Amino acid sequence: MYDLLLRGGTVIDGSGAAARRADVALREGRVAAVGEIPAAEAEQALEVGGLVVAPGFIDAHSHADAALLRDPAETPKVLQGVTTEIVNNCGFGLFPVRGEAAGEAMGGVWTEGESPTFASAEAYHAALRARGTALNVVSLVAHGAVRASVVGVENRPATEDETRAMCGLVREAFRQGAVGVSFGLLYAPGCFAARDELAAIGRVAAECGRLLAFHVRNECDRFEESILEVIELGRETGAHVHVSHIKVADPARWGDIGLALGHIEEARARGQRVTCDQYPYTAGSSPFTTLLPPWALEGGPARTLARLRDEGERSRIRAALAGEEIIPGWDNLSSRIGWPRCVVGSAPGREEWEGRSIADLAARAGRPPEEVLFDLLLATRGAAIGIWHQMCEEDVQTAMRHPAQMVGSDGLHTLGKPHPRLWGTFPRVLGRYARELGVLTLEQAVHRMTGKTAAAFGLAERGLLAPGYRADVCVFDPGRVVDRATWERPTLPPEGIAHVICNGVFTVRDGRQTEARPGP
Ligand SMILES: [Zn+2]
Repeated sequence: MYDLLLRGGTVIDGSGAAARRADVALREGRVAAVGEIPAAEAEQALEVGGLVVAPGFIDAHSHADAALLRDPAETPKVLQGVTTEIVNNCGFGLFPVRGEAAGEAMGGVWTEGESPTFASAEAYHAALRARGTALNVVSLVAHGAVRASVVGVENRPATEDETRAMCGLVREAFRQGAVGVSFGLLYAPGCFAARDELAAIGRVAAECGRLLAFHVRNECDRFEESILEVIELGRETGAHVHVSHIKVADPARWGDIGLALGHIEEARARGQRVTCDQYPYTAGSSPFTTLLPPWALEGGPARTLARLRDEGERSRIRAALAGEEIIPGWDNLSSRIGWPRCVVGSAPGREEWEGRSIADLAARAGRPPEEVLFDLLLATRGAAIGIWHQMCEEDVQTAMRHPAQMVGSDGLHTLGKPHPRLWGTFPRVLGRYARELGVLTLEQAVHRMTGKTAAAFGLAERGLLAPGYRADVCVFDPGRVVDRATWERPTLPPEGIAHVICNGVFTVRDGRQTEARPGP
């Protein structure tokens, strides 16, 4: 006897195979059968005629690590059909955090308010288990946390002993279930790591069969050399390289993403494992501190704010932003993007600035944009989050078509006006990019949010609707599914997601989230 039968739907099984009419039977948290199954063989049958039955979606690029502790319902993702998310991306995570510097650098980054931190993956996952979550949570180990724990937030290469210690922490996290290492080569402290350190960690990952996920060093003018840097690390170490949120984030280089994809193709043709994820929008989002030169970030957030209060250091930062000081290896993001494209998303304490660009705020105040940025950072104690309108639609679609691509939200759980990707990513790919624009077939779109992601990150038993796999299911209406979150109203839930089942338990039924917490 099956627990639940989903009857009469169109199965898209997550492998990329063509849709077919089939029933899906679940038993004891697993997919038990797919085919023609009489209703009498199940305790409960749900008619899903006209709907697509797919594996639950896997968010390849989540920053929900702290948000899940605060609100385990994780509504923005669950309502999109997500049943698993991969957290601790871009080098930021809540473990392993040892010592005060690491705690300050990792607790409460990219999120609303402070967060507890943890000494190990095991401790973090125990905290999630104690709360229960509405979806499965899979961890990367964040290089930034590892480095901050061993070296501090210091702008210097690690010693050999420190590198060995970092490799030890990475190994420990792997033993405790982490599926890879995430790097934020744009951010402090990840940007301070020398090549030897990255390669040493890469070798540990290769040896343990885990991947390296990179927020690459530069997504603006030097995006090509940044992609080549991580491909070369993969070649040298033998590790699978995954490029996070692939993009060309520089209006002067719009239309050039094919160059980055070409390097990925060449590496794949040589037999290297290289993949990428992407969110389906032409804007990015990250903390406003990302705009500052790297030396202004040394020592951690409190030191950065102290520099902005110091007249001399403040004017030095202003000169750097104005391009008066050339800093090797730094691309001066705001000068590449332009202040009119830098919009305030979340500004706790300065809510009236949310939704406005730095250029607009500067014009209204009659002040230089750099000074407005500094005021914003000081007023929000460094917590302000920006939205950068830095990509073009053509590049988004070119990357989406590429066979190395999979879907990741990169959603940030911020107050104010978060980037709509937090609430819209998966239905947007299905509705706008697959159904309306035909950039992907529906089967390809589902594959890139299920089976392909599970294969890349080594998630056994997830990502496919096949007997023996975990019963993670998303049932959606292919004619209606679409995102509704916009820049103005970024927290509107999507349409057309009918039912979501995680580990055999309904987390969404008839479009409404249940109380169930079947994760992590
Ligand atoms: Zn990132």
